[in-house]
Amino acid sequence: MNTIGITGGISSGKSTVSQMLRDWGFTVIDADVQAKKVVEPNEQAYNEIIQEFGKEILLPNGHINRAKLGEIIFNDQAKREKLNSIVHPAVRKNMLRLKEEAFANGEKTVFMDIPLLYESKLTHFVEKVMVVYVEPEVQLRRLMERNHFTEEEARSRIRSQLPLDDKKKWADAVIDNNGSVDETKAQLEQILKEWNVM
Ligand code: ADP
Repeated sequence: MNTIGITGGISSGKSTVSQMLRDWGFTVIDADVQAKKVVEPNEQAYNEIIQEFGKEILLPNGHINRAKLGEIIFNDQAKREKLNSIVHPAVRKNMLRLKEEAFANGEKTVFMDIPLLYESKLTHFVEKVMVVYVEPEVQLRRLMERNHFTEEEARSRIRSQLPLDDKKKWADAVIDNNGSVDETKAQLEQILKEWNVM
C-alpha cells in the first residue's frame, strides 16, 4: 500500500493532475476539501471554533464566516495558531480515515492533494511526493485568469507560499506543467509507470 502526495504552488496545476488521477479511477484525498468539511456546522472543529472565537464569527445561516475569521487571524499570530490547532488535527484525522477506507476497499495506491505539504511539514503523511511545477510567469498568468485577480493580488498569494523552486528540489518527481494538458498527462503516466502504480 502506497500513499503519494501531490503538491506545488497556488495555480500550478495540482487540481488538474488530481482530476487526471480520478479519471483513471484512483482515490485522491483533497486537503482543501477536508479543511472546509471539518468546519461545517456541528462538526467537532466547528464547535471548538465557536467556543474559542464566539458566535460573532457565524453567518445568519449558522455557517462560519470564513472572511471574518480570516480577518481576525490575519494579524494575530496567537489566534491563528489557535485556529490551526483546532482545524489541522481534524483535517489530518479525516484524511487518514479516508486513506484507510480506500486501502480497506482493496486500493493499492492513494493520492493526497496537499497544497501546503511542505509548509505544514506533512511529508511524513506520504511515501513519495510529486510536485506540479510551472514557471513563475505561467503561474502568475494562470492564477490571474482563474481567480480574476489583479497582478498584485496574485503576486501576494504566490509570495505567501514557499518558493516553487524549493519544492521542486525536494520532490521525488516533478511534473512540468508549463506546456499543454496532454503533455502533463503524459508525464504523469510516465511517473506512475516508473513507480509501478499503473
Ligand atoms: P492548482 O490546483 O494547483 O491551484 P489548477 O489545476 O486549478 O491549479 O490550475 C490552475 C489554472 O490553470 C486552472 O484554471 C487550470 O485550468 C489551468 N491550467 C492547469 N494546467 C494547465 C495547462 N497545462 N495548460 C493550460 N492551463 C492549465
